[in-house]
Amino acid sequence: MKRQLFLLFFCFCIVISLSAKQFILVLDPGHGGADPGAVGTEVQEKDLNLKVALLVGKKISERCPDVKVIYTRDTDKTVTLRERPMIANKANGDLFISIHTNSNDSKRPCGTETYVIGLAKTGANFEVAKRENSVILLEADRESYQGFDPTSPESYIMFEFMQDQYVEQSLQMADFIQRNFTKKTDRVDRGVRQDLFWVLHQTKMPSVLVEMGFVSNASDQSYMMSKKGQNALAESIVCAFEQYKHEFDKKNGLKFQKKQQAKKAIEQSVDSLKPVFKLQLFASKEVLPENHVSMKGEKNLSYYEESGWIKYTAGETSSYEEIKQLKKELDKKFGDSFIVAFFKGKKISLKEALSLLK
Ligand SMILES: [Zn+2]
Repeated sequence: MKRQLFLLFFCFCIVISLSAKQFILVLDPGHGGADPGAVGTEVQEKDLNLKVALLVGKKISERCPDVKVIYTRDTDKTVTLRERPMIANKANGDLFISIHTNSNDSKRPCGTETYVIGLAKTGANFEVAKRENSVILLEADRESYQGFDPTSPESYIMFEFMQDQYVEQSLQMADFIQRNFTKKTDRVDRGVRQDLFWVLHQTKMPSVLVEMGFVSNASDQSYMMSKKGQNALAESIVCAFEQYKHEFDKKNGLKFQKKQQAKKAIEQSVDSLKPVFKLQLFASKEVLPENHVSMKGEKNLSYYEESGWIKYTAGETSSYEEIKQLKKELDKKFGDSFIVAFFKGKKISLKEALSLLK
């Protein structure tokens, strides 16, 4: 009977709300201000990067209401290479897209490519990383780069011991971008590449660096300067983002669903006139899948969030006697559970809860 009662109470699950986190996209238009980046015959890289980045941000803000777009710069101002990943990390970004324009001593090379952090497979790639990293040489505060010299191959050894946990997701995003460039623009596809970029190395999230085309190539330059070209490049990045976000949501679907349930539950809890007791069993840094080993076979556990921890509880009753009985039962399995109390959707002390019962 008691068991059934508990099941009934589970139906009125009262859990503190866990609000779903917004997806944070960081857009990084390369160069700016005193640093023009690559210089073509008719245009400077910094202006193209900014135009396309703003267009990408505008489209995403219109189409993805659950995404917050943050820019490392949204005007023509100087932002150091060191500041860019710092802005992204501070914002707790979920994805970082650095937007650049390529250049070469020869007028021939053309087309789009997207970079992910990693060791270059060919020597030729190093030129792009070297050029993009060399912004550091223009900066006054070079000490802050831990002695890194962008022109010296030896300097890149510091990257070699990196363990980047985001490479796989970054490669997926880069692949989506290049596929969309192929579909939506008529530019040459130079593919997904890996190399050692300072900005990609310092971000604590999946990160890509897009080279939209060569200002040193006449056809690429005029394409990137045209409204049609800018729109197609931006649209490609946006569609790639939508695909990436779709995959991201699918992976986080379970967590999201649970958070929605928790939200719903709090709305029901506010009406209760009595405090509710629960038995706290264990805490976790994340929402766990059903049947996780920590649950020791217990079904229908609920949880609430407190100071960054997800705290798992069993039971749901306004009777102190009943929760004490449950503690007796479950302590055989969990050992050291303890009773927690809630009132109108807030955690309160046991003392307060008991005084409310009088
Ligand atoms: Zn650049």
